[in-house]
Amino acid sequence: MTIKEIYEKFEAVGVLTASTVCGNEVHSRIMHLNGYDEKGIYIRTMWNKPYGRQLKETGKITLCGASDARILGHNEDGVPDFPGGYAIRLIGEVQYLDEDEIRRRAKTNEGLKTAVYDMDHYPAMKKGNFIINRGKFDIFDYDFECINRDHKVLRTRGSFGGMEYNKVGPTITDKCIKCGVCMKNCTFKAIKEGSPYSVIPERCDDCGTCIENCPVDAIELSKSM
Ligand code: SF4
Ligand code: SF4
Repeated sequence: MTIKEIYEKFEAVGVLTASTVCGNEVHSRIMHLNGYDEKGIYIRTMWNKPYGRQLKETGKITLCGASDARILGHNEDGVPDFPGGYAIRLIGEVQYLDEDEIRRRAKTNEGLKTAVYDMDHYPAMKKGNFIINRGKFDIFDYDFECINRDHKVLRTRGSFGGMEYNKVGPTITDKCIKCGVCMKNCTFKAIKEGSPYSVIPERCDDCGTCIENCPVDAIELSKSM
């Protein structure tokens, strides 16, 4: 996926949760994104606010949101009612950009015109601009009722700015005896036959059912994103 496509996925969600580290605590905020270009995704705050100072100090950020954040319901049997949609998250690094640099980039980037407007009206914004210039993301598209396709989950992982990411899901090792138990129990249709059997990463929910059921412990846990 391009940075533009990632940006549009986040923008369709709108209001996002953004976190960074402060000492030995994780701090979160609500935030909108402010544009993009081939170098990354722009965000801004005010330099005097704790979040701006934390970002400057750590250079680290996470973002997440969901396209449909309705309250989770359930039917009379307790089965969750989860309307289709997607969740999106990003782990990234931020670079601070000074006022002159934002003004210079705004000359060729329409999306940064609001940043210039804000700097002109709120002086503290002049030192509150950042770009997420390296990041890895996970888009978790869910259709648990299988209304639009024949499997529940379609995941996309990727990165920009040279950051590396891990594939989704556990790994089936050569210890596999091809009994088929994992495939039978995977309600996400995320395992296929073979020698050894294998996980289809984009369909995997990381639910762990296959690991719990494998009679020979042939399945290794997934890595983090
Ligand atoms: S349950 Fe374990 S041994 Fe059986 S097919 Fe799956 S990975 Fe292989
Ligand atoms: S972790 Fe869950 S979704 Fe993924 S392959 Fe195993 S059983 Fe299927």
